[in-house]
Amino acid sequence: MKVFHYALLFLIFFLAVIIKTDISIGKLKAIENERTELTRKLTAATSDAVEYLATSGVYGANSIKRDELIDRFFTSLYASMGIISDANAQAELEMYIPVILLCDYDGYYLYYYDTFTAEDGSTYSKRTWSEKMPYYYKDDYFIYRFTLSDMIYLYDINNLLVLPEEVIEADSHEFQKDDRYELFKLQHAEHFLFDDEKFKLTKKEAIINQLEKVLSHYTSRHNAIARQNGISYSFSFPSGFEDEWAGYMDDLNMLVVFQGYPYGADRDYTFNKIASAGGNIIKKPLYFVEKKGWYYLAHIKGCPELEDSTTLLEETFDSIEACARIGAYSDDCIEYGARLPVLVTD
Ligand SMILES: [Zn+2]
Repeated sequence: MKVFHYALLFLIFFLAVIIKTDISIGKLKAIENERTELTRKLTAATSDAVEYLATSGVYGANSIKRDELIDRFFTSLYASMGIISDANAQAELEMYIPVILLCDYDGYYLYYYDTFTAEDGSTYSKRTWSEKMPYYYKDDYFIYRFTLSDMIYLYDINNLLVLPEEVIEADSHEFQKDDRYELFKLQHAEHFLFDDEKFKLTKKEAIINQLEKVLSHYTSRHNAIARQNGISYSFSFPSGFEDEWAGYMDDLNMLVVFQGYPYGADRDYTFNKIASAGGNIIKKPLYFVEKKGWYYLAHIKGCPELEDSTTLLEETFDSIEACARIGAYSDDCIEYGARLPVLVTD
């Protein structure tokens, strides 16, 4: 062969490499696009559900209409995935969502697959809601129940506060100035109850640790169930997840674990994502005040009683304290505040 032939061979070889690289770059790009799209759809469905919660009043009277929230989430997800009228595809997709977490003001719910054995002895799995579980924490002094706001419940198991009540319900700031806690404060000035920053940090870590444990448990449990259905994958939280999620922790929020979803042209890639979205319900509550004969009654936005009321004040309030300043009592839709005195008549 002449030099010219070698040059030609080299050119052919070189072009082949370029074309092959180009094809695999194209394939990677397609995979990347699909992953971005999946993330977008999942995040949009999660935000959609939480937004619905914030605006529709399903968060009324201290009880979340959880099934409406879930319906909203799945409807939104099915629509964006183009499977709104394909029940089989929906059932398959759902298998990749082992658990949904809903963090309410004073505790959380899990939406998960539970297994049960039918009369004929066969085992089935079915979606179900857990009971509301408290944000629980314990140290050498007390058992604590946190809320997403500054309200806290203390179980004084060792009677350290020497108070008649066994459970103390208080705004965390009260601990720093209320005389009733003075003795304990003198002995334990370093305790997190007496420092805003420490309080926030302890609460955040306690809640996140607890939820992580519980999510791991329910996801592993689901994986055991899913393996029987021929789907197999393992679970882990992505790095940086804790920080992202912590951003939502001071308000009502929802978290969706999406795991092991096969995608790509040959469905040989696996999509894992934890989508979370937070509401704007606790952070910026809105209160309405109703004039009821001789007194004022405050309601939180979304309370069903607001719908029929014709005596609402035009002014709205952003805290219970602001309602209290005009002398309003709190309706049952509000967690705390002064209640209307019960008039006893014989
Ligand atoms: Zn109300």
